[in-house]
Amino acid sequence: MRIPYDVARQIADHAEAEAPHEACGVLAGDYRTISRAISLRNAAANRDDRFQFDPEEQLTALKAIDADGLEWMGVYHSHPRSAPIPSRTDINEALDPKLLHLIVSLERAKPKLKLWRIDGLSAAPVELVFDTDTSDDDGSQFSARQRVSIVIVGIASLLLLVAISVALLPPAPELMPAP
Ligand SMILES: [Zn+2]
Repeated sequence: MRIPYDVARQIADHAEAEAPHEACGVLAGDYRTISRAISLRNAAANRDDRFQFDPEEQLTALKAIDADGLEWMGVYHSHPRSAPIPSRTDINEALDPKLLHLIVSLERAKPKLKLWRIDGLSAAPVELVFDTDTSDDDGSQFSARQRVSIVIVGIASLLLLVAISVALLPPAPELMPAP
């Protein structure tokens, strides 16, 4: 699943603005890309570790998604103090197994986003790719030449890493005769 960087940034900003309460919203797109996030008010009584949509606000958001020709793909909420892993409550209260669950964690200095599929009993992580491509399709895609140089840089750093690890290996232990 792909998400444009600015949409991810918008979700992280919303989470930071609502902390220490949980922030929440809905996600829309085309099943391959989460192209839109709509922030909603957290209507839960205990906003510190729960989230709940306001039904009317949710309906308005879903209508807007539909009007834009997008699909409702999932929901997002924040974990202001814990890892981006679904809680027991998140799993128990997941309404629809078709909806994806994005959790943004503010546990560390840098917000962390993780995507999950929750089937009511368990949660499985879904790969999330951040797209820095914010303009039109061909304008900012990597050219073949750029792709080759990225691969070369990748291999070079891997080789460097291997070289460093080999250099850091402890010397082979000397065999001591048994006493
Ligand atoms: Zn949660």
